[in-house]
Amino acid sequence: MPAIHRFNLGDARITVLLDGHIPLGTQLFNGYDADSAGAVLAGGLHRLQNGALQVPVNGYLVERGGRRTLIDTGTAQLMGPGLGALGAGLAAAGAAPESIDTVLLTHMHPDHSGGLAAEDGTAVFSSAELVVAQREWDFWHDDAIMAGVPEGSRGFFEMARRSVAPYAGRLKLLRGEGEAAPGFTALELPGHTPGHTGFMLDADSEGLLFWGDIIHSTALQFALPEWTIAFDTDPAQTVETRRRMLDRAAADNLLVTGAHIDFPALGRVLRHGDAFAYQAAPWQFGL
Ligand SMILES: [Zn+2]
Repeated sequence: MPAIHRFNLGDARITVLLDGHIPLGTQLFNGYDADSAGAVLAGGLHRLQNGALQVPVNGYLVERGGRRTLIDTGTAQLMGPGLGALGAGLAAAGAAPESIDTVLLTHMHPDHSGGLAAEDGTAVFSSAELVVAQREWDFWHDDAIMAGVPEGSRGFFEMARRSVAPYAGRLKLLRGEGEAAPGFTALELPGHTPGHTGFMLDADSEGLLFWGDIIHSTALQFALPEWTIAFDTDPAQTVETRRRMLDRAAADNLLVTGAHIDFPALGRVLRHGDAFAYQAAPWQFGL
C-alpha cells in the first residue's frame, strides 16, 4: 500500500508521496565519527540498521486552482527494491501522470529525476512542462565534466540525461531566483549539486518551503550540520547553504519539507545553540 500524506495550506492541497527508503551507510558521511553520531542518535528515536540509516525519498503533488504540480519524481526503477512507489502514491492520490501540468525538479540525482522517464525512454508525465535550473541542466550535460569524474560517478550523468531527455521540447530553465511556476518561487541552494533549487509555495496564510536535499539525514544533520555526504558536489558550499537555510527557517519559523526528511516530512526548524533540531508539525485533522 503506498504511503501518502495529504494536508491543506490556504487554497493549496498538498500530498506527500513516499517513494521508499535508501539504506545510507555511515561511511557515506564525510568525517563520520561514531561517538558523535551515537550521542545524537541516542537522543532521538533513530537506530542504525546494519550500519545504515534508513533515509526516505519523498516527492509531492501540489494541487491548486485547477493546476497540478509535481515536485521531484522519485526513483522509479533506478535504485532497486524498497523504492519506486511514488507512481503508486500518485495513483492513490487520484492524479493520473498525464494530468500533471508542471514538474519542478530540485536537482537531477536519480532519486529526484528517476521517475520522469519510463523504461522505454518515453515521458511519464506526457503533458507536463519540466522546470529545472539552467545551471543544473548544464552541469549534467557537460561532456568535459562527465569525462573528468571518477568512473563510478559517470552513471549519474547517464541517468540524469536519460531521465530529462523526453522533455527537451517543453523545458523551462531557471536563471536565478524568481517565479518557477504559478505560485512557486525558486530559491538557489547550491552545493549538493551546482543548480540545487528550493521552491517556496506562496500561500495566503503561510508558505511552505520545499528545500530538496538541504538535509539527507533527519537523525544526524540538524544536530551536526557540518556533516556532508559523498554525493555533495561541493561540500564546503553545501554546509554554507545548509546553515544559511536552517538559520532562515528557524528565524522565520518557516514550515519546511524535504525529500529526505522523515515521512510525512512536514515541520519546522529550531535553533539549538550553534546547531539545530527538527520539530515535526502536528497532524492536520478534519480534511
Ligand atoms: Zn536526494
